[in-house]
Amino acid sequence: MVSGGIPIGRFFGITVRLHWSWFIMFGLITWILASQYFTGVEEYEDWSVATRWIVGAVTSILFFASVLAHELAHSLMAKATGLNVSGITLFIFGGVSQLTEEPRSPGTEFRLAIVGPLTSLVIGGACWGIFFATRDSVSPVAGIAFWLGYINIVLAGFNMIPGFPMDGGRVLRSIVWWRSRNLRSSTRIASLIGRGVGYLFIFGGLALIFAGFWSNGLWLALIGWILENAAVGSYRQIAIQDILQGHKVHEVMNRDCQAVPASLTVEQLVNDHFLTSGRRCFPVVDFGRVLGLVTVHNVRIVDRKYWPVRSVREIMTPIDKVKQVRPDDDLSSVMSLLTDEDVNQLPVVQDHNIVGMVARDNLLSFIHLRGELGV
Ligand SMILES: [Zn+2]
Repeated sequence: MVSGGIPIGRFFGITVRLHWSWFIMFGLITWILASQYFTGVEEYEDWSVATRWIVGAVTSILFFASVLAHELAHSLMAKATGLNVSGITLFIFGGVSQLTEEPRSPGTEFRLAIVGPLTSLVIGGACWGIFFATRDSVSPVAGIAFWLGYINIVLAGFNMIPGFPMDGGRVLRSIVWWRSRNLRSSTRIASLIGRGVGYLFIFGGLALIFAGFWSNGLWLALIGWILENAAVGSYRQIAIQDILQGHKVHEVMNRDCQAVPASLTVEQLVNDHFLTSGRRCFPVVDFGRVLGLVTVHNVRIVDRKYWPVRSVREIMTPIDKVKQVRPDDDLSSVMSLLTDEDVNQLPVVQDHNIVGMVARDNLLSFIHLRGELGV
């Protein structure tokens, strides 16, 4: 759903990134707090405009810190049960923990899902505790604590909507899975309910728009649309993982992997290799040793007038910068790797030799063929 982003630090060994869309939400929340929440309240009447904006921004940062705590709870629970976490990304609609694999038992799934909303609930309760202790003072603490308490409790409630891939949907899926012992059918049920909730939000939003509450209605409909999309997308993803699981790289990889010499010019590479073979990627060798990979992408960033003078060695991606897979790796992990690295192909390496290439296309035709045959 979201990839990339600026790394802002590591917490308990988990890299946290900010997606560009996060800044939109940060600005929006700061603006709403400064221009509405901290305005028109008696206690804050003598605040200057600057104070309102600073308090707004601080509150907004604290809000994202509590979203981060929610995600860290998911990620730490995942790590505690032996699952791999590649990081946490904060984006416009909150946060997302990137797990490279799915929980293997209903019990794990249940604990993994429930711990997030529980964390938000605890933070919300603590904030309201601070609010009741400080509400007689004129300091901004009471106002901040009240809003943070409210938003965290809303966050906990919203995440418990029983539609996959929301936390509540995962809780629901784990219960159905525990009863039925069938992961695929329980995913189908949880994502169908997720779509149902999505449509409910969309129709509710439309009803609000027709009733004249167009900004609230638009928000609700937008959230519904996102929920519906996420439910469809995550079901498809699980179905794909299901097909790939248990199959190995050597079943789909391209074996006739022609290498090109490092001393070749870019022009020769294009004319004699890319254009004649139709391939998009070649291993680069020098005296029988693999130095790197050269792809259409590497060539495209070189100005055409330098094609006759630049060598393949200068433009290739060095081998130590390239993620590699082994012939015995599971195809489902290769699919996640291609997505995470945002590349189209990966070299298959055995005993320091490139024995083939595995591309997105290989996986897609593998999936399509099995889908068409209903295997
Ligand atoms: Zn969550």
